[in-house]
Amino acid sequence: MLAGKPGRIFLPRIKIQIQLDCGGICAFPGCNRRVDPNDMTEDKIADGIEAGDCAHIYPKSTRMIRFDPTVNPKFIRSRKNGILLCVTHHRLIDNKKNMDKYTAVVLIEIRRAHVVRIAEKECAESKSTKKLKVNVYTCHGSGSFAKMILLPSGKCKVLVGSILLRDDERYSTRGSTRYLEAPYLARRRLETSDKIKVRDDGRKELLEDHEFESPTAAGEFIIGKPVNGYIVWKDSRGISLGDIIRESLVFP
Ligand SMILES: [Zn+2]
Repeated sequence: MLAGKPGRIFLPRIKIQIQLDCGGICAFPGCNRRVDPNDMTEDKIADGIEAGDCAHIYPKSTRMIRFDPTVNPKFIRSRKNGILLCVTHHRLIDNKKNMDKYTAVVLIEIRRAHVVRIAEKECAESKSTKKLKVNVYTCHGSGSFAKMILLPSGKCKVLVGSILLRDDERYSTRGSTRYLEAPYLARRRLETSDKIKVRDDGRKELLEDHEFESPTAAGEFIIGKPVNGYIVWKDSRGISLGDIIRESLVFP
């Protein structure tokens, strides 16, 4: 990340979307480095992942190259304005010497072609390993981040390492104080049996896999508010569980 200047960084959820769109691979043609725009850990480095950036196609700052005052600020903050790049290629496209070569139009096309390539690759992989492939769905928001797999029984299993929304954040939406008993009790139960730990930042982390009756029950456990499980759980392409089920009904 280019030295954390305020306003230059995408929101965390947008960053995750950009990472998923680009399949965790530098979008620069031919690069193929596996990159991560978040803090690096020893695990990631051992896995061959390098530091990367969610680069802006159109920058926010008037001082940056490719600045265009006619571009809608909402677009500037959106996932479509973000392209996952390794540090080398981020520097290359932001170098003033290359400003005529890597224009915003060129970068939009590079992003588009890369996203299509990633989606096709993931689709081919899931077809060739159809029976073995287990789809992992994610659900995130306001600092929570959970992974889940659907079980053949229709129940779903939230995976170890998932991070729950803090208790005090759960009912903050529009002053709602709606009380959800089932997820509340599930949390307390897991806490008293030491299956949840409280991290330094106050968020709670699941220490082992836990099964729920439905995607909605699992989503409410994570987020602590009434949610629709078919909307909040998404696959690696960002497509919701509901859409995936509809898609597989249409194309079995
Ligand atoms: Zn690269």
